[in-house]
Amino acid sequence: MTKQDALPIGVRNVTKTYGDVHALDDVSLDVKSGEFLTLLGPSGSGKTTLLMVLAGFTRPDRGSLKFGADEVVRKPPHLRDVGMVFQNYALFPHMTVAGNVGYPLRLRRVSKPELAERVERALETVQLGGYGERCIDQLSGGQKQRVALARAIVFEPRILLMDEPLSALDKKLRDRMQIELRHLHEKLGMTTVYVTHDQREALTMSDRIAVVNFGRIMQLATPQQLYDQPENRFVADFIGDSSFLDVERTGRDIAAGGTVLKTIRPIPDANALSLMMRPERVRLLEGAAGDDVNEFAATVSEVVYQGESFLLYARLQDGTEMAVRGAIRSGSFDRLPKPGDAVRLGLDSADTVILVGEEQRP
Ligand code: ADP
Ligand code: MG
Repeated sequence: MTKQDALPIGVRNVTKTYGDVHALDDVSLDVKSGEFLTLLGPSGSGKTTLLMVLAGFTRPDRGSLKFGADEVVRKPPHLRDVGMVFQNYALFPHMTVAGNVGYPLRLRRVSKPELAERVERALETVQLGGYGERCIDQLSGGQKQRVALARAIVFEPRILLMDEPLSALDKKLRDRMQIELRHLHEKLGMTTVYVTHDQREALTMSDRIAVVNFGRIMQLATPQQLYDQPENRFVADFIGDSSFLDVERTGRDIAAGGTVLKTIRPIPDANALSLMMRPERVRLLEGAAGDDVNEFAATVSEVVYQGESFLLYARLQDGTEMAVRGAIRSGSFDRLPKPGDAVRLGLDSADTVILVGEEQRP
């Protein structure tokens, strides 16, 4: 397989309804040439529908879809130059591995000798060199997924679409395949749109992530931007752990949990605001807090042992709860505060993220 020119994808105002369900609600999205972009969202949020629109299996009610300069919204799937990997592999069980991988080439009437060579090359790319004559039902789940991947890339498409391709694999294999898929993408360089409901998978693999909910894109950003600066409660809740405190405004000041907040981040222009805190960014303070630290007085309500880390819950005077996560080193768990103890919690101004308050349905 050779690295070739990738194509950008432009989605404009794409809408698809099934009866009352807005599977896609006026979606616009640009995927850059050669980018690995992930659609991340809960079940039923519209991820598969959007991927099927890209592949050409679903025609949207409205909207435009461009691959490079070409409008493709009316083009049938086999003319789109798109490779696709499905969740359930969708392999032909009665064909050999080589039969499956060679299928797209036979559709394209590639000559036999060239076909054999390209099939073997694709199998080598997914680390299944020499497996051509095996039967599909002799393969493990991970190997089947590699065959499906080889079949998707064998005709060197400029766009690769994958719908939850790893969800049937066990966790260890999934972790390894995530890294492998990422390396494969770096090697082949095709524009890739990847679907998952697993936030950690999305953070691990993607150049950028589009968080999808109710058929809409809630935020499109790099993994770090999504984690550190979510734009709304949905994204903050869906990616990583977080706890929230109501924010009050008094003149120019904002306060939460009885503390006037210092933040170096933007404060949204809205009445109802909340403070988002990642548990691993909150610290148990000992001694004086620095100038750029927001300090909260609280009482420990629960301490949980989680192996590599602890999770400590503490209540502020108004009853709201904050969570603190920290690493456990030899013996350190036993020295943690206990339920009922008074503690001071610290949050750096750089980690003090203010969001629009209510959970908002678009
Ligand atoms: P996801 O892949 O994020 O789980 P889908 O794109 O499969 O979500 O579905 C989005 C919404 O559209 C869901 O409410 C689903 O039930 C509905 N939907 C998807 N495909 C069809 C279909 N062919 N007929 C009716 N409803 C559908
Ligand atoms: Mg789906």
